[in-house]
Amino acid sequence: MKRKLVFATNNNHKLEEVREVVGNSFEILSLKDIGCFEDIEETGETLEENALIKVRHVKEKYGYDCFGDDTGLEVDALGGAPGVYSARYAGEGHDAKANMKKLLAALDGVADRKAHFRSVIALIMEGKEYLFEGRIDGDILTEEHGSAGFGYDPVFRPDGYTRTFAELGMEVKNDISHRALAVKKLCDFLREK
Ligand code: IMP
Repeated sequence: MKRKLVFATNNNHKLEEVREVVGNSFEILSLKDIGCFEDIEETGETLEENALIKVRHVKEKYGYDCFGDDTGLEVDALGGAPGVYSARYAGEGHDAKANMKKLLAALDGVADRKAHFRSVIALIMEGKEYLFEGRIDGDILTEEHGSAGFGYDPVFRPDGYTRTFAELGMEVKNDISHRALAVKKLCDFLREK
C-alpha cells in the first residue's frame, strides 16, 4: 500500500508538480483531502519557521506525516526584505502589482540590485523534522518586463539569462526555479525512503 503524505497546501499547481516528481511510492494528500479547512497562520519571522508551523499543525491536529513550503524574495540592498513578507509587502491583499511598485520604489537609484528567491520545504516524517532549500540568484530590473508567471516574475532576471522570469515562461522557470530545486531535494530524499 502507498504511504500517505500530506502536502500542506491547496494550490493545485504545486500539488501536480510534486505528485509528478514523487512518482508512485507516496500518495500525496492536500489540506482539503484531510478536511483541514482552517487558516494556518504564518506568524514566523523566517521562511523556515513558517514552513515548520504548517507541518507541525497538520501533524499535531491530524496525525499525518506532512511537508509544507514557504517562499520569499530576498533583496541584498534591502537586508533580505521583503523575504517572509513577500506576499504582503505592500499590505494585506496579495496584490502583485502593488508589491512590485513598492519594491522598485525602494530600489530607486540603488546600484546593487542583487536578489534571490528562496524556497524552504519542511518535512515531518517518522517523528523527525527535515528542511530542504532551493535558491535562485538574479537581479531586480528597474521596470517590469513580460506577462507570464506571477508575483515578482516581471522584475526578476535570473543570473545567466537576459530575460525576466515573466518573459522566460513556465517551462524554463519550472526547470530552474527556487521551488523546483527545493522540490527536487525533497523528492530525492523521499525516493530513498
Ligand atoms: P508562497 O510561499 O509560494 O506562497 O510565496 C510567497 C510569495 O513570494 C508570493 O506571494 C510571491 O509574492 C512571492 N513568490 C514566490 N514564488 C515566486 C515566484 O516564483 N515568482 C515570483 N514571485 C514569487
